[in-house]
Amino acid sequence: LKTISELTLENAYLDFPDNFYHRVNPSGLKNAHLISFNPDVATILDLDSCSVQPFDLARFFGGGDVLQGSEPLAMKYGGHQFGQYNPNLGDGRGLLLGEVLNSKGERWDLHLKGAGKTAYSRFGDGRAVLRSSIREYLISAAMQGLGIPTTQALCLVGSEEYTMREGMEPCANVLRVTQSHIRFGHFEHFYYTQQHDSLKTLADYCLDRYFPECKKQADDSASAYLGMFKEIRDRSILMVAKWQAYGFVHGVMNTDNMSILGETFDYGPYVFMDQYQPDFVSNHTDYEGRYAFKRQPDIMLWNLSCLAQALLPLVKRDELVAVLDGYKDLYLKAYTQQMRLRLGWLSEQEEDEALIDQFIRLATVQRIDLNRFLRDLCDLQPDNDVTLQQCLSHFSDPVAATDWLLAYTQRTEQEGTGFTHRQQQMRSVNPCYLLRSYMLEEAIREANNGDYRLVNTLQSVVRYPFDAKDEYARYAGQPPEWAGGISLSCSS
Ligand code: AMP
Ligand code: MG
Ligand code: MG
Repeated sequence: LKTISELTLENAYLDFPDNFYHRVNPSGLKNAHLISFNPDVATILDLDSCSVQPFDLARFFGGGDVLQGSEPLAMKYGGHQFGQYNPNLGDGRGLLLGEVLNSKGERWDLHLKGAGKTAYSRFGDGRAVLRSSIREYLISAAMQGLGIPTTQALCLVGSEEYTMREGMEPCANVLRVTQSHIRFGHFEHFYYTQQHDSLKTLADYCLDRYFPECKKQADDSASAYLGMFKEIRDRSILMVAKWQAYGFVHGVMNTDNMSILGETFDYGPYVFMDQYQPDFVSNHTDYEGRYAFKRQPDIMLWNLSCLAQALLPLVKRDELVAVLDGYKDLYLKAYTQQMRLRLGWLSEQEEDEALIDQFIRLATVQRIDLNRFLRDLCDLQPDNDVTLQQCLSHFSDPVAATDWLLAYTQRTEQEGTGFTHRQQQMRSVNPCYLLRSYMLEEAIREANNGDYRLVNTLQSVVRYPFDAKDEYARYAGQPPEWAGGISLSCSS
């Protein structure tokens, strides 16, 4: 195990030609100080989490100092934002510091978000504010805890530097950790600038590094690229199926925010819905509701079509189209499977889709708190009226709910598993704790006043969301009245 200052970085991205990136060092934050760090992520990097020095984290991840071997760079990419192609994108306020090769032989990118201006900053200041940095830091831990594919975050560093957003706000850095920072928009950039050699170089790099199986199984390079595209489709499907099953709204599904690894990436105005609303739009500047909750699966397909378009110089059109054509059925299958697990059904029955459909309609009409209801459903014993009443208490009209619960109980009995066993299985996929908007609001309010305790508490709460703990009971309960009025923007 290592200390932070013993970390030595490499960076394969530096071997690319100069049109892939731009070299620039971070601009240190004024009086950088550690707010929080995630010991689970430290472990991935072979860091000794018990002896991690707050001072070291602030020094290296507040942008003041550069780790051994690190040659930070800003990556160039493009992307479709709200349906329009924007060629002028790239790391405008985040830098790839390099990669850690851990003792398992895994390579993990370290990316410092909020590190200052780059060649791709355009009119931006290259900074991230504390508010949005807390949001990214905590949701990374929460998604990981839930088992929803995500980038991770090692630490959150605060500062006494201020910038203008919704008023003057303190700046912060998040150290993002993932195996790849390559986005759909990287491929789009080389396609739209007609740099097809670079497109191929990028695709080969991704195959070697992230999709070696696709290369092994293919007879020629075109079928390897096709295999990679199919794999990206499948991972994206799993990610969105989980979003839909847990009521997660990403908020800004632009193609520059889509990871080729199928991880939830580039967190902005995301939300876990307190009330189930398919039309829910989390970003209040998304006037047309392009990224509404219910549209996410279709938008993911749209985004994959953009990636397919960018791969046209490498793969035959009809083969790419065939992969896209498979999306809808595979998505429905994946979503149904996620919901089955949440409902405690390990077998597949013909009526499952219809029962899930009825449940979602009920959840929509009665605007239930999906995640709290499903946690209570883990405890349902049909012959125990207290548990039945607890489930029914989530519905304003219990009559329709009773009918569904009856059908649910009959279906569940077909599983033939005992109550204790089912409860255990259900509790392992139905969280007791969710990172809700009101918790973030409270943590941000206190952090802006210099009190970071709640940020740290929430981190502990959401990292292991399935295990109920007495001391965190308050976070398992109903959100406060004012939670319904929270509004989020992209300005971060
Ligand atoms: P995002 O909305 O964070 O996905 O960012 C979209 C694009 O704008 C990316 O190319 C970012 O790097 C860039 N960007 C966002 N905020 C800033 C900022 N404060 N300074 C410079 N560039 C930014
Ligand atoms: Mg070079
Ligand atoms: Mg982005």
